[in-house]
Amino acid sequence: MSNRLHRETLIAGAGVSADKAHNSVSPPLHLSANYYWNDPCEKPQYDYARSGNPTRAQLEEALTELEGGARGVITSSGMAAVDLVLNLVNPGDVVLAPHDCYGGTHRLLAARAKRGHFKVVHVDQTDLAALAAGFAKRPKLVLIETPSNPLLRITDISKVVSFAREVGAIVVADNTFLSPALQRPLALGCDVVIHSTTKFINGHSDVVGGAVIARDAALGEELAWWANCTGVTGAPFDSFMTLRGLRTLFTRIERQQATAKDVVDALVDDPRVAKVFFPGLGSHPGHEIAARQQEGFGSMFSVEFADKIDALELLRKLEIFTIAESLGGFESLVCLPAAMTHAGMTAEARADAGISNHLVRFSIGLEHGVDLVRDILAALDGAAVAGNVTYLNKQQPAVGACA
Ligand code: PLP
Repeated sequence: MSNRLHRETLIAGAGVSADKAHNSVSPPLHLSANYYWNDPCEKPQYDYARSGNPTRAQLEEALTELEGGARGVITSSGMAAVDLVLNLVNPGDVVLAPHDCYGGTHRLLAARAKRGHFKVVHVDQTDLAALAAGFAKRPKLVLIETPSNPLLRITDISKVVSFAREVGAIVVADNTFLSPALQRPLALGCDVVIHSTTKFINGHSDVVGGAVIARDAALGEELAWWANCTGVTGAPFDSFMTLRGLRTLFTRIERQQATAKDVVDALVDDPRVAKVFFPGLGSHPGHEIAARQQEGFGSMFSVEFADKIDALELLRKLEIFTIAESLGGFESLVCLPAAMTHAGMTAEARADAGISNHLVRFSIGLEHGVDLVRDILAALDGAAVAGNVTYLNKQQPAVGACA
């Protein structure tokens, strides 16, 4: 048996009883912006909190171990993490990105490409022919988001890595939807893993943060250099809170994904439900890949309802689910991606990715599954419309109003 500690043990013990100044068991919070030098010729381990901070370092080390990387950087948000890796490309380089990804990522790539920072090519990474065509453009960096937001598409990470090796591309995986508890992209050959720690890693919906973890120490140092240079490193208080949230990651996610499965099972055969996007379903096109590369199917799913259901009304009728952006917290959330999380994409880009105006995304929290199912079924009763009204005839969400 390996002597390596289990990941649950690692996060329970991260920074515990490490305080040499006062013997505190829980790690102290170091808020100081700067650190004194004993001598102008002796640079201390920490000198300025943008460059390094002991509280942030504890979270960096814990996440780096969990992901199996060599060097991690904690950033001020998930978007800062995405942007940080984009410092690895030059004008003229191609970034190969999924067509179905978080709307903010799509918006950032489009905005930077417009300024000439790089060229961006979006492909359906689940389609091998499209992927091969994308790699024919010899990308410098490939961004994977699996499962994707909001359609839960599953990209075969090892396949992308093997394509990338042939052209020498850096592979970056956004692991936000699963966390290292359920998927470890570095072990599958990715060079960098990124997170919006705002989601499962903190899990309490009270911190916005991000993380970038590199498999190779030199690449990690380069990213840490850029993080300090551009000032995107995370705040100490946020790191303290996120480390606190991280300790219960495995317990939360086990419960959340079990409940998500129960809720999906209760919905999938309901005649008012047209389609459920959940990789745990045997009918999901990415089910087999997900079963192979993930340690669980997660707690996110999206739904297209039948024509007789008004999706906007359904959201209004839900009582336990809160209408909000974000995901992965202790509380169950529901959102209309076209009007909320993915409003930053153009209508054409959403259509290309298959994100309809009435797709509903659910994030399952820690409530009892029976209550959640009851809430959705009651909302479905309240959202039924007479006749076969199609969404084209209905009030459309105010797309773009809440970008
Ligand atoms: N990546 C994914 C997959 C996301 O879902 C999000 C936010 O929803 C982000 C990145 C951006 O993270 P943040 O909101 O922390 O900036």
